[in-house]
Amino acid sequence: MNSLRDLLQQAQQSGAAIGHFNISDLVLLKAVFAAARELNVPVLVGLSEGEREFVGVRQIAAFVRSLREEFDFPIFLNADHTHSLAKAVEAAKAGFDSIVFDLSALPFQENVRQTKQAVETLKAINPSILVEGEIGDIGTGSEIHDAAPDLSKRLSSPEEAKQFVESTGVDILAPAVGNMHGMLRSMVQGETKKRLDVERISGIKRAARVFLTLHGGSGTDDADLRKAIAAGINIVHINTELRVAWRSGLERGLAKQPDEVVPYKILPSAVEAVKQVVASRLKLFAGERHAAQGI
Ligand SMILES: [Zn+2]
Repeated sequence: MNSLRDLLQQAQQSGAAIGHFNISDLVLLKAVFAAARELNVPVLVGLSEGEREFVGVRQIAAFVRSLREEFDFPIFLNADHTHSLAKAVEAAKAGFDSIVFDLSALPFQENVRQTKQAVETLKAINPSILVEGEIGDIGTGSEIHDAAPDLSKRLSSPEEAKQFVESTGVDILAPAVGNMHGMLRSMVQGETKKRLDVERISGIKRAARVFLTLHGGSGTDDADLRKAIAAGINIVHINTELRVAWRSGLERGLAKQPDEVVPYKILPSAVEAVKQVVASRLKLFAGERHAAQGI
């Protein structure tokens, strides 16, 4: 089986990005895995500290590993937004394939100092683990927001991206390029879209020369996502869109069978709703070459 690093490299060469989908229960995991298998593309599932707290760090690692082994399928596990070295070490020891070490709320130099230390510590536990660092401000909370925060003052610059990557040794960088965690109500209704600063992505890619992740991909304009991938984005994170689909699918399942109490008869509606969102995003991320192959 190819490593996550190899698959990121291959995706980059073919003009594709790997989809990263947050999960916090079996419904979401089943939906992501089913969509990726159907399209036969590698996939990343991620859990933030809160999501890991709910599911169990070692438990989700065992679950994802069992899927990868039984189906010989490239599904990988990411410890999303990890704010302390202790939590990062816990995930690395449990067998996570990558860690997002996120100290972007700290002053730049402090972020550099602690991220460098985390890279060294995590690679000592697992030399092939990929460590992602984050600079700039992309907001918090993959949920529905009433108002957009003003993130324009803390967009990442190519210069700081280069300095951060060279000083820390991260494998992957998460820059702030117009993206934002969560969705506005108008985005859930499809009335507005997030727009990306594609020029800035190109500049950061040229300067930093590492894999780039786009966080907060939910509700982003499709054409902007395609351009961002062409400009050097290698991983796109989607969370809120899945959560919205999870809830509406669950409500539909309950409404269809008002007297049902058997979870595995109610929950397939939620799996199907999430799977549709994942599949449509994976098709978009697969880019030109995969489009020619008919997926
Ligand atoms: Zn994120």
